[in-house]
Parts: sequence; structure tokens; C-alpha cells
Amino acid sequence: MMQPLLMRLHQQHPDAEIHVLAPAWSAPLLARMPEVTATLENPFAHGAFDWAGRKALGRRLASADFSVAYVLPNSWKSALVPFFAGIPQRIGYSGEARFILLNERMPKSTLPRLVDRYAALAGHFDDPTPNPRLTSTPAQQQAARAALGLSTDSAPIIFCPGAEYGPAKRWPIHHFAALAKQVTAPVWIIGSAKDEPVGAAIAQQSGSAARNLCGKTNLAQAIDLIASAKAVVTNDSGLMHVAAALDRPLVALYGSSSPGYTPPLAAHATILSLDLECSPCFKRECPLGHLHCLEHIAPEQVLAALPH
Ligand code: SF4
Repeated sequence: MMQPLLMRLHQQHPDAEIHVLAPAWSAPLLARMPEVTATLENPFAHGAFDWAGRKALGRRLASADFSVAYVLPNSWKSALVPFFAGIPQRIGYSGEARFILLNERMPKSTLPRLVDRYAALAGHFDDPTPNPRLTSTPAQQQAARAALGLSTDSAPIIFCPGAEYGPAKRWPIHHFAALAKQVTAPVWIIGSAKDEPVGAAIAQQSGSAARNLCGKTNLAQAIDLIASAKAVVTNDSGLMHVAAALDRPLVALYGSSSPGYTPPLAAHATILSLDLECSPCFKRECPLGHLHCLEHIAPEQVLAALPH
């Protein structure tokens, strides 16, 4: 969601270094963004305040002499590190009364897409916000397949059946399994260790038409496997955005969330969303107990949306 901001900044200041303060897990992703010079580990857990820790990190970063900081989260605490680092220009949206912490506060954005809100922090551009773009070389793709003992012969269809947010964003296991039986390409299932039981159930119900790789890849390998896929079938999840940023043909399945807010940012994406009266409800679990928004997206519809 934030890479287009980096693209804008690189366009404005091609010689500037861009360092990103981000959680350690995201370093492999940032390493695939050509605009990023370095990743600095943000050690604070989501929601943790840790005044002393933020102050110490800010003081450490002061020696790097950064000239501008862009603060993307809206929270007060997220603006502390650039403040303590003494970065002269600290830019972000107004929110949580960050009067001293930020010295260039932009009024709250009314843009519907999060990606446009972030990109707008770089100022106004006449052309549309660029789509994110991650890099993956053929050598990296071959290395990932070799490390996982996967065939290098054919381009698979990749399923991403996870969605950290909750079951109301997950297309049902039996639909994924039915789809796996109908596609002719090899099917690989990718996700985190938490998605392993879901991946295993899909593989089992598909009669081994799909191979479960959930929890077996690291993030860099997941990027490289997706980069060489024929197509990707995915819930509204982080891997959906990875597939979009790798410009793979993808079918994105939306349940309780809205494609209007966080759509896949890619030219070759098909969004399947039923737009029921109850959707989007943005709930983690279906409050009506039937999950019709996803149950009623048939495998045949997804099959028809895949490239032939
Ligand atoms: S209430 Fe509607 S949109 Fe929300 S999860 Fe249930 S079926 Fe889906």
C-alpha cells in the first residue's frame, strides 16, 4: 500500500536515499522494492506504546541525519521516533493530536483508496497513482523452486487461501478443493504456518490435485513462486497484494471486506464480489452465520475468470 508513495518520492528526488522503518517480517518485501535503500527494523509490537524504547531508537537514528520523515500510521506513538530522531521535516496526516510531533500535518484525506492517501503525502500529481511493483528475477524463481523441491517445468496456478483477518474473508475450503480438481495446471497452495491446516484440508479434499506449501516457504520464496505462476486465486489478503505487485493474472475473492478500499492494484486482476445487501460488513466472522458472500461464489465462476 505504501510503495507508490516511495515511487513518487523517488521520482521527485532520484538521488535521495529512502530508508523504511518497518517490522522485521516485512524486510524481504521491502528488499524487492527498487526505491528502498535500506530497511530499519521497527521492534515495537502492534499497539505497544514503549515510550523509552521509541525515544532510544529515535536517538540512535539521529546520527543518520535524515532530512524528511513520512509517518504513515495515524497513531500518536508512530510519530515519536522521527520526533526523537530530530528529523527536521515530519509529514503525516492530522490525527490523534500530533501537533508537536509532526510539523507538516495534512488534513484527513477523503480519498477512498488507502494507496492514494499514502501517495498523496508526496504532493499532488496529475497522473494516477502508480501500481506497486515488486522485483523477482528468473534466478530467484529457480532457486525458490529448487529449495522447495518443486518442478521447474510448468507454470502453476497458485492458491492463497489464508486471510489473517478472519474466516469472513476466506473462500471456503471445499470451493478451493473443487476448483483444484477442475484446473489442468499444477496447483500449489501458499500461505503462512497458520494457514497450514487450511492448506492441508484443501489438498486432502482435492484428492491431491493441489500441493500444500503453507508454512514451508519464507516470504522471499513465496514472492518468487508467485512471480512464476500462471495465475493466482486469492482471498483479500497480503499475498493478494504481492501477486498484484508481481503483475500476475489473479482472481481476487472478496467476502466481508470491500474491493473499493483495498483493491488489488494490477492491470490483470479480476475481482469477484457478490455485493450482497449485507456486504461489506467488515466483520472477522459472519454475523449471519451463513457466509453467503463467499459460499455463493462458485468454483466454476473462478475457473471461468482464470486464463486458459
Ligand atoms: S454478513 Fe454478509 S458480508 Fe458479512 S460475512 Fe456474512 S454474508 Fe458476508
